[in-house]
Amino acid sequence: MKHFSPALLFLCLLAPRLSAWQQRVDYKIEARLDTVSHELTADQRLRYWNNSPDTLSFVWFHLYPNAFRDERTRFAREAEGFHDYRFRLSREAERGLMEVSSANAGGQPCFLTPGDDPTTARLDLPSPLAPGDSVDIGMYFRVKIPGFFSRLGHEGSHYEVSQWYPKIAVYDRKGWHPLGYHYLGEFYGDFGDFQVGLWLPRNMVVGATGVEVTDPNDTTAASDSLSYRLFTATDVHDFAWCADPKYIETSEIHRGVALRVLALPKDSSRWGNVMQYAKDALDYYGKWYGRYPYPTLTVCGGYLAAGGGMEYPNMVIVSSGEDRLTRGLEMVVVHEIGHQWFYGMLANNEMDQPWMDEGFNSFSEERYFEEKYGPEADYLAHP
Ligand SMILES: [Zn+2]
Repeated sequence: MKHFSPALLFLCLLAPRLSAWQQRVDYKIEARLDTVSHELTADQRLRYWNNSPDTLSFVWFHLYPNAFRDERTRFAREAEGFHDYRFRLSREAERGLMEVSSANAGGQPCFLTPGDDPTTARLDLPSPLAPGDSVDIGMYFRVKIPGFFSRLGHEGSHYEVSQWYPKIAVYDRKGWHPLGYHYLGEFYGDFGDFQVGLWLPRNMVVGATGVEVTDPNDTTAASDSLSYRLFTATDVHDFAWCADPKYIETSEIHRGVALRVLALPKDSSRWGNVMQYAKDALDYYGKWYGRYPYPTLTVCGGYLAAGGGMEYPNMVIVSSGEDRLTRGLEMVVVHEIGHQWFYGMLANNEMDQPWMDEGFNSFSEERYFEEKYGPEADYLAHP
């Protein structure tokens, strides 16, 4: 048995408490989608809480849509490194970008200084942000939504809108994490609340993070061709949405969660089991790791070009359909919903420690197949 001095014991007890802090950021975003130019124009206001013991003189932002601006971005260069030439060979009209036309902090005009990749920028605060204080930051921005080279994208009037707003980077005990957008690699975000208002064509079926709270009696919330859709989300670290006028919707309440499946017409005949897969994923992961704590979960059909699916808080996008030979669709649906726990709730740094989300989640996906179909089963087994 080792002997601990009283001072060392005191430090050991104190150390975890000193480092047990997280920043917090609450967003309010109002955005309008132009389905002719495939552009979003938006006004974002956020309140950033400095819960760290440090005084901050600047904050970093992610401007992710700039990954699709030109061939010089980190994403574009890394894509070529993986012999993926879709972006290099794309037309200008298919590419995307983000422009922040004005910014202010604490009521004072501010400027963004680009980072080493156009997907990051630093905003110098007009006055230092002391521990325990908060600052309000406002921005007007425009996003040109690209075709599908990765996650954010559109195909005609179908939209998958992720990594789409100026997102404040994480500051933790290791400092700032202004992570650029990579060809391979994911994300890291601070928890907070979102209030997102979207002006969209009236016929759009929308899936989104959080809960839709649109007031159906608000006569100001519509124009000839657009309607206003309002969403709120609590204690999440990202907000994404998808919209398509042709989505085929099914919905069900399962264990208190409002489950929705939005199938693309091309997949509708092959998505008949998706609702059951979603319910099973909630049941198994809930049994093993704790109940899914959010009120909604939506599975959206998509076209994304970054694997067979992608996870966002309260929402997953799946780009595959059922086939006759494997349980591949079930695997993707369960895997993406599993990410609601591993990263969605745990919120690790996915760039530094991807094993903590992909590793645990892939293990859990295998566990799902073994427990549901028997010890020899996996997704390759014939249904
Ligand atoms: Zn994954």
